[in-house]
Amino acid sequence: MAQQQFTVTERPDRLAEMERLAVLADPGFGKTFTDHMVVASWDPENGWHDWQVKPYGPLELDPSAAVLHYAQEIFEGLKAYRHSDGSVWTFRPQSNAARFARSAARLALPVLPEADFIESLKQLVTIDEPWVPGADAGESSLYLRPFMFASESFLGVRPALGVTYAVIASPAGAYFSGGVKPVSLWISQHYSRAGVGGTGAAKCGGNYAASLAAQIEASEHGCDQSVFLDSVEQKWIEELGGMNLFLVYADGRLVTPALTGSILEGVTRDSILELAKDLDLQPEERRISIDEWREGIESGQVTEAFACGTAAVVTPVGRLVWEGGEISMGPEGTAGPVADRIRSTLLGIQKGQLADTHGWLTRL
Ligand code: PMP
Repeated sequence: MAQQQFTVTERPDRLAEMERLAVLADPGFGKTFTDHMVVASWDPENGWHDWQVKPYGPLELDPSAAVLHYAQEIFEGLKAYRHSDGSVWTFRPQSNAARFARSAARLALPVLPEADFIESLKQLVTIDEPWVPGADAGESSLYLRPFMFASESFLGVRPALGVTYAVIASPAGAYFSGGVKPVSLWISQHYSRAGVGGTGAAKCGGNYAASLAAQIEASEHGCDQSVFLDSVEQKWIEELGGMNLFLVYADGRLVTPALTGSILEGVTRDSILELAKDLDLQPEERRISIDEWREGIESGQVTEAFACGTAAVVTPVGRLVWEGGEISMGPEGTAGPVADRIRSTLLGIQKGQLADTHGWLTRL
């Protein structure tokens, strides 16, 4: 397939270097965006066309744009890391492209070929390269957010015949500014994130909207995040609103819920299952009941639990809270040794400090 041609329009008033450096010194997460964005259009006659790199700014949408009414939308999240020689790399973008294609199929959106997905990241990172934090900036990276939505103007429930794809980027600092901090989890028994045959395995905005009421419930119970159970029996652990989960057993097993169709297949999750073998752990994908987790903590069989995802890499779980009870895991305020080892191995590969023996890095 022929490579797409991009029309590049530079932002005339690029953010001044001093201002950019001030942002990069303390980027936070998802607050500041780079100078440019990629935008492309799709319709049934022309396919993907009008590829542009242009100044970052508001998109013009008709009030009847289908996405605003029927939420036909998908997105991805991945990061670009600077290595010590100045080069910029991303981690397993082919997996994000494949997940984007699966999400598109589930939401009846057009599939974007992997080559176009990766080229769009290259185009944006090339023009906004000064926004990629330095190799010496600890865990900082440039977060890339590709997304696709129904931009056709119509009110009617059918797959849109006009679709927009875009990529924006935002410098991201260490997710935990004061060092890795264990999170407390609320077991949501009123709300499910996804159901059988639903869109749980797709990365679509609606799943996140559906998770917010549970997030409020978690906050009301003094917890950082909700852990979602299956929607049928409210018994089997699925995932958090934006991260997958792992349990570490005293005998070296590393267990994560199997992909049931209602769980998002995380790139970090998959990478940890691969890395586990290098780290002499025994990875297992299977159903885990919430009782197995609670009883495992009590008996000492479950020694650690952690959540994982692109944004926070690996996040230890410190406390589990439910209606009428709670249980703490591990010494207060610290990550367990297994979570720590996995976190530093993954980050080391991403930042080019450890050998990329799995061939996971792609240069942008
Ligand atoms: N589950 C959900 C619901 C998520 O939003 C994410 C973040 N994309 C993950 C898991 C982790 O996925 P990844 O490791 O690909 O970031």
